[in-house]
Amino acid sequence: MSLFPKQSPGSVLLIGAGPGDLGMLTVTGLRGLESADVIVADRLGARSVIDQLETERGRPLDAEIIDVGKHPGHHPVPQSRINDILVEQARSGRRVVRLKGGDPFVFGRGGEEVLHCREAGVEVQVVPGVTSANSVPAIAGIPLTHRGVATSYTVATGHDQLAEIGGGTDHTVVVLMGVGTLVHSAMVLSRGARGPDCPVAIIEDGFGQSQRVTIGTLGTIAFLAARRGVRSPAIIVVGDVVTLSPYADGAFTAATELHNELLRNP
Ligand code: SAH
Repeated sequence: MSLFPKQSPGSVLLIGAGPGDLGMLTVTGLRGLESADVIVADRLGARSVIDQLETERGRPLDAEIIDVGKHPGHHPVPQSRINDILVEQARSGRRVVRLKGGDPFVFGRGGEEVLHCREAGVEVQVVPGVTSANSVPAIAGIPLTHRGVATSYTVATGHDQLAEIGGGTDHTVVVLMGVGTLVHSAMVLSRGARGPDCPVAIIEDGFGQSQRVTIGTLGTIAFLAARRGVRSPAIIVVGDVVTLSPYADGAFTAATELHNELLRNP
């Protein structure tokens, strides 16, 4: 049995819940949840993992669950309050688990929570999780690197300066929280070396009930996404690796035709 991590009373364990499927939670994460006194959980990914775990066990976890209901663009409990809850709960001598979607250190503000606990003198450890940045592309059959196709990748959000990401179609770009800014991001990325014919995939609700894959190019994806009503949470993958997806079969001929038609009748 793994010795990592050993949680003592009065401490905080930040656990990555993975992309939302119980099977993607790590064994260490599972043990942490089962021995927690209180679990402070986000909505995206984290809450549904607890529900699946309780269904599988046929009984609720022993821990009190504090739902801080965080999902993109909507934070009913502000980050500063979440930080305070962690410290207050730990100071009352409980084993506190902070359950966050994906990996706590990938666009999860986990670093801030760790610093806050440390500054308050509360012991804190991190159990890494499976990030949506690579697990969600995987369910659409998209490797982020592939010999002869892509040798590196960048993970960014739709709010980042995508224009500054270098490379061409052989440098994969994974965009999180990117649905709202898709029109702009696709335009910015197509202006660089990638060009409008660069393949793009959007995977919505990875591992969830409404999982869906949309394939296009930088030139067509915003139009296709609008037509299909693509919604958050979703991962956007940009680069030649998208052509390796079984969902891409035939899509690129169709995408090129659509792109040409859009150019003729904008
Ligand atoms: N720490 C998380 C990311 C938090 S930011 C991680 O490592 O995965 C939230 C964004 O993650 C969402 O807007 C979406 O872009 C992405 N995301 C998380 N879970 C997802 C899922 N199951 N399917 C698709 N995208 C997901």
